[in-house]
Amino acid sequence: MTTAHVDVVIVGAGPTGLIAAGDLARAGRSVTVLERRPTINPSSRAFVTMARTLEVLDARGLADDLLARSHRAPGVTLFGGARIDLTHLDSPYQFVMITPQTNIDRALAEYAVVQGADLRRGVEVVDLAADPDGVTVTARSHGDGSVNETRWRASYLIAADGAHSTVRKLVGADFPGRTILSSIVLADVKLAHGPTGHGLTVSSTQKVFAFLAPYDARDADGAWYRAMVWDRDNQLPDSAPAGYAEIAGVLARSMGADPGLLEVGWKSRFHCDERQVEQYRHGRVFLAGDAAHVHSPMGGQGMNTGIQDAANLAWKIDAVLGGADDAVLDTYHDERHPIARRVLLQSGLMARGITLYPRIARGMRNLLAPRLLRIPKVRDAIAGSFAGTTLRYPHRSGEASLVGTRASRIPVRQGHIAELQRTGCFVLIRENGAPVVDAGRLPQAERADTGPALLVRPDGYIAWAGDSADRFAWAATLARWTGQSGAERLSCQTR
Ligand SMILES: Cc1cc2nc3c(=O)[nH]c(=O)nc-3n(C[C@H](O)[C@H](O)[C@H](O)COP(=O)(O)OP(=O)(O)OC[C@H]3O[C@@H](n4cnc5c(N)ncnc54)[C@H](O)[C@@H]3O)c2cc1C
Repeated sequence: MTTAHVDVVIVGAGPTGLIAAGDLARAGRSVTVLERRPTINPSSRAFVTMARTLEVLDARGLADDLLARSHRAPGVTLFGGARIDLTHLDSPYQFVMITPQTNIDRALAEYAVVQGADLRRGVEVVDLAADPDGVTVTARSHGDGSVNETRWRASYLIAADGAHSTVRKLVGADFPGRTILSSIVLADVKLAHGPTGHGLTVSSTQKVFAFLAPYDARDADGAWYRAMVWDRDNQLPDSAPAGYAEIAGVLARSMGADPGLLEVGWKSRFHCDERQVEQYRHGRVFLAGDAAHVHSPMGGQGMNTGIQDAANLAWKIDAVLGGADDAVLDTYHDERHPIARRVLLQSGLMARGITLYPRIARGMRNLLAPRLLRIPKVRDAIAGSFAGTTLRYPHRSGEASLVGTRASRIPVRQGHIAELQRTGCFVLIRENGAPVVDAGRLPQAERADTGPALLVRPDGYIAWAGDSADRFAWAATLARWTGQSGAERLSCQTR
């Protein structure tokens, strides 16, 4: 059996694996994605893309096309009229994008391939051996009635192979946690009398709930929605088919009126777990996306978190392949593990809040939640947390407090930061009025507002803030992350 050599092997062509592949290929690394399905996953699970993910997609030139084909929901209406209002978000995207996950998967697959990643479908990873110098994976594919075994050798491996990750099992990582809700039915439905607003709505009683997200698709007799329905008294295994009567019944009971179910398109029954691995890094193997954490789909966070895991990891692998200290790779776990832990907590709270049973507790919830969510500080904290715009990474003592926050809202004199980030490089943003500095091939821009100069990481987070004339300071930060003593040998597409 021959062994193909690449810089990075990625297992799984879901959103996590595909964006990591595109980023690494964009940085000039050889990357192969091994995906066991012969075609794109047709089951469209995620339908909510959050503001921070849209910023990440924009930094790859992918947001506008997706937005042109999607619905924009300005908020989520919960119990008792409580509303998560996204219209005050500190982001160019003051809404959530509603589109089936298949559209995101397709856009990211195209991004990966256009950047030069080698995407192999119908290839299942079955074994893995890691040593101090690299990782060897064995994969199987089927063809002409025979089973073919192939082998890849890579410096690093990203396990983006989903909730039932083979790689996670092969590296011996536990996935502690538990099932929190069973028998949730997800379906595309056409309703004659669905909710009329543009936002997402959750309706619930003690026994049932229905979550509806509008698509921008309307026929003469009704409009299409993505529905998620659940019935406490009708708990069935994932394999049990979901029928028209079940969906129609739960919708009518939860909404308190019959919304007139006209058609059911794609549908599926699933359960949801809350689980997270303890370590994201296992030597040269990194767990990302659903392979590392799964949670209730209620907060619309899984795909969003996976995409952001990948955006955090890919440039670090590129940096270490380019000579940065190996410790840079440890920061992937340090930065991303706490974020997913918080997502687990937050989406779990939402699931428990919606399915709350005792009548008194439901009454309190319905009384307090709308009042709390009308307080601007609470409103913005909750909306920002769901949208991912208030999430930040820790900074070291002595570093400016801006370090670890995202840079996407900093206005620059020409264009947008997202456009500069499409190179995949660090970006130096000078103070308003400051002259161009000698920064080799590092892309530069000038702030259009007041504030310090910034060094922005390839994933859009601020690495340093200070005086752009202090070359020693920003170059030292660049060297710490990339191993390069100056900007002249910058490892990115502009090299
Ligand atoms: C009902 C439902 C609704 C959801 N709604 C939302 C939402 O609104 N917003 C949101 O952000 N998230 C949502 N999610 C979660 C979201 O779908 C997942 O978090 C997301 O798909 C995870 O992406 P991933 O790339 O990490 O894994 P996956 O999408 O699961 O991709 C993993 C890939 O790895 C492949 N694979 C597995 N094993 C192997 C192997 N051994 N060899 C090769 N390939 C392999 C699989 O075939 C698969 O294609 C929802 C989930 C569900 C179930």
